[in-house]
Amino acid sequence: MIVGIPKETAPHERRVALVPELIPKLTQASLEVWVQPGAGVAAGFPDSIYLEKGARLEPDLIPELDILLKVQPPTLEEIGKLKPGSTFIGCLQPYTRFAEIEALATGRVTAFSLELMPRIARAQPMDALSAMSTVSGYKAVLMAANRLPKFFPLLMSAAGTLTPARVFIIGAGVAGLQAIGTARRLGGVVEVYDTRPAVKEQVESLGAKFVDLGLETKDAEDKGGYAKSQSQEFYQQQQKRMAQCVSTADVVITTAQVPGERAPVLVTEEMVQQMRPGSVIVDLASEQGGNCALTEPGQEVVRHGVTIFGPTNLPSTMPFHASQMYARNVTSYLAHLLTDGNIRLDLSDELTRGPLVTYQGEIVHPAVKAAQSPATSREAPPS
Ligand code: NAD
Repeated sequence: MIVGIPKETAPHERRVALVPELIPKLTQASLEVWVQPGAGVAAGFPDSIYLEKGARLEPDLIPELDILLKVQPPTLEEIGKLKPGSTFIGCLQPYTRFAEIEALATGRVTAFSLELMPRIARAQPMDALSAMSTVSGYKAVLMAANRLPKFFPLLMSAAGTLTPARVFIIGAGVAGLQAIGTARRLGGVVEVYDTRPAVKEQVESLGAKFVDLGLETKDAEDKGGYAKSQSQEFYQQQQKRMAQCVSTADVVITTAQVPGERAPVLVTEEMVQQMRPGSVIVDLASEQGGNCALTEPGQEVVRHGVTIFGPTNLPSTMPFHASQMYARNVTSYLAHLLTDGNIRLDLSDELTRGPLVTYQGEIVHPAVKAAQSPATSREAPPS
């Protein structure tokens, strides 16, 4: 079987789905590895290292592949070139890329979306969302520190004592926890709020303070560990009770997301107005609409003297390590699917079934199928 890694074509994407050091893992499993020339260059992996590790360089590789590995969803053009019965593993953005998912089903491609990985212990090495959130949480703090007109740490110098930066982090999932650790290492004073009370201990173990807003969040977490959405009234109360934490912060990092839904607006324009000029907000939920009312996805804007970053692909700004982590996720998942060098699907295994989106000409993931149907009918021309 031939597994292939094309050069990513999405704008500003610098990651690559396979790093050279993992090629032997695939060749030992009896796979041939084909790489499009230049695929790893932007991430710091030149073609020569892929060759050294046993890959073959091939400019027009997709029509020959049995398995396609990517970071970004395949384009319609790429899907059109894939053989029926071939396998795709990568991030499909399954709730927005309706046309691509339809095309994968029609083309009889077996497609796995890493975003749909179940959150169970066995899946941890394959969890690309967590790996990429780790990068985002780290990078968000660096962006803020770089823009802030202040030091992060407490400084006692002959020129006087400078107080440390105050950082308020909303959401202590994977990205939030990484942001806490990074802000603490830089010497910031960190406060944190999350609707899941279970994270309090983790927050405190990283040297940050968990803020108790006195809000009732009994039903805040689903059985997979993800946040459940709250009522509009809850969010209004949350905004009100967080106002002071936001206005006294030099840096606010927002990471609050509810899977499959628009991110809740937790920082209003009035709250931004109360912040000191020069303060910074980094909104890591910007791709899902943003936690700050003034965020513009993909942009950096200054509103009421506050810089608001709405980054949409921070992992791509640290492509070497992000690719290394992603490649480990994707190869671990591929290894899980392989038996004697062939892909054999055991659909009774939730690790196989969970991320499976298209199979044998059908969209088989129930939630993706449900999201797909109204979208497809909306796109249908009026009769
Ligand atoms: P996420 O990206 O879905 O959300 C980020 C955080 O925002 C979450 O902690 C969430 O509770 C919080 N949030 C949502 N609404 C909020 C609000 N209104 N105010 C404040 N905070 C709010 O989360 P994630 O990083 O994917 O992690 C979710 C959980 O899954 C964590 O407990 C994590 O440890 C767990 N997890 C388990 C595995 C595994 O077992 N394989 C892998 C990854 C993550």
